[in-house]
Amino acid sequence: MPLDLSSLRAGFTGTIVTPYDPSYEGARVLFNNRIRTRPAAIARCADEADVAAAVRFAREAGLAVAVRGGGHHAAGFSLVDGGLVIDTGGLKDLAFDPATATVVAGAGCGWRELDQVTYVEHGLAGPGGECPTVRNAGYSMGGGYGFLSRTYGLGCDHILAARLVTAAGEVLTVTEDEHPDLLWALRGAGGAGFGVVTSLTYRLDPVPPTLLGGVMAWSLDDAEDVLRAYRDLYTGRDEDRLSIYLAIVTDPYPDGEPVLLAYGLHVGSVEDGERELAPLRAVGTPLFDAFGPTSYLDLQTALGNEIMYGLQLSWRGGYFADGGFSDEAFGIIVDAARRMPSGYSMLRFDLLGGGAIGAVAPDATAFVHRSRLFNISIIAQWVRDEEAEANLRWTDELRDALAPHLSGEVYQNYADAGLFDWAGAYYGANYPRLQAVKGEYDPTDFFRHPQSIRLPG
Ligand SMILES: Cc1cc2nc3c(=O)[nH]c(=O)nc-3n(C[C@H](O)[C@H](O)[C@H](O)COP(=O)(O)OP(=O)(O)OC[C@H]3O[C@@H](n4cnc5c(N)ncnc54)[C@H](O)[C@@H]3O)c2cc1C
Repeated sequence: MPLDLSSLRAGFTGTIVTPYDPSYEGARVLFNNRIRTRPAAIARCADEADVAAAVRFAREAGLAVAVRGGGHHAAGFSLVDGGLVIDTGGLKDLAFDPATATVVAGAGCGWRELDQVTYVEHGLAGPGGECPTVRNAGYSMGGGYGFLSRTYGLGCDHILAARLVTAAGEVLTVTEDEHPDLLWALRGAGGAGFGVVTSLTYRLDPVPPTLLGGVMAWSLDDAEDVLRAYRDLYTGRDEDRLSIYLAIVTDPYPDGEPVLLAYGLHVGSVEDGERELAPLRAVGTPLFDAFGPTSYLDLQTALGNEIMYGLQLSWRGGYFADGGFSDEAFGIIVDAARRMPSGYSMLRFDLLGGGAIGAVAPDATAFVHRSRLFNISIIAQWVRDEEAEANLRWTDELRDALAPHLSGEVYQNYADAGLFDWAGAYYGANYPRLQAVKGEYDPTDFFRHPQSIRLPG
């Protein structure tokens, strides 16, 4: 029997989508199309009042809820079977103040929407990533690594304040002075069951209109040498303006052969960038080198355009232990890259630590992985169900082969439903404090998903 949504519909200014609507499948599908979870309804909220109404309705109806932004959760926790999805992707208000270099961003804004307002005219950028469909709230509350992070800190380090709807349907303004413990939790664990965030206030950073950025590629025959040079470039390094990620991906994507890409930027003058990048450029015989003067927005847009939404996905990985980003690990990685079962798959080293990230104490925010420099994402992507087994086996086998080289810590934004000790892997020593905040702000565990913070005791 259809769920009686009449009391929610009254006064709701967004749209409510149910399995009886033709738009349901499009509203439901996540970035990871392996997730087949079917909610009873999706409340696509238009404003904060819609969010509060959806929370109150679900509580009174005894419905389980999930909170959704851009739908990129790798394990699908932004959907709930038979429950109500509170979708904040439509909350797109932006209030930018160039004088204080701050912006109040609705939870549904993507980073390119912010850049268009803050960077193009005023040379100020938010702490964003390149994916255009990731929303700022999910991204920054789970950490938030981008090309500016080594220079200016993580997304969560830029959160100055939040508006949050509690399980009681009340709206809180969360700042350093009001609910400081909740602000601490949102800075690293905000998607883990405290409430629905409707907007975040960020500090912004100066970024030059023209900088050195781009991408270059090598064949896999050069890959171990490039990985070594990359490790040496970043180990013990003070300079924190060069931000280069690596990826092994098919080129052309998805029909070509696996190649190793280096991509990123230098937050400074083009000349300084050329000098800092030189050691990497000198390795092997690049297939192409498309680094050159560009703008932060153009580079992010070009990289983001390469990301496909709606493939099936298995995402595993973790941070390397001290000394674990080693020649032995490089051999395992390159061998596995030669055996990628799908042309859509990739290996990414895209969470470069150090610099301003490591300058923050591990207990200053809920984000604990402050000392980790290198990370690997093992990302299998495929189209048809019958391809699943080979792709899942590939990610699991590579994860197992690399286990002796990894620290056991996992980035909470790259959620892995297969983790046994997910609380330890994501939050480490900060977990008990997160439980205390959970007990204070969501004592009935209304906002729960398989890896939300558990109540204390
Ligand atoms: C292609 C791709 C590229 C990525 N690139 C990067 C990157 O460069 N750097 C990086 O750090 N991360 C990156 N990520 C990870 C991404 O930041 C996280 O998956 C993030 O949680 C996605 O947010 P979302 O709103 O798009 O996803 P959703 O699936 O909608 O939400 C993710 C989680 O956040 C919670 N959440 C979302 N909105 C709210 C809200 N308003 N209030 C409370 N909780 C909320 C959800 O409940 C869920 O637990 C990437 C992910 C993908 C798939």
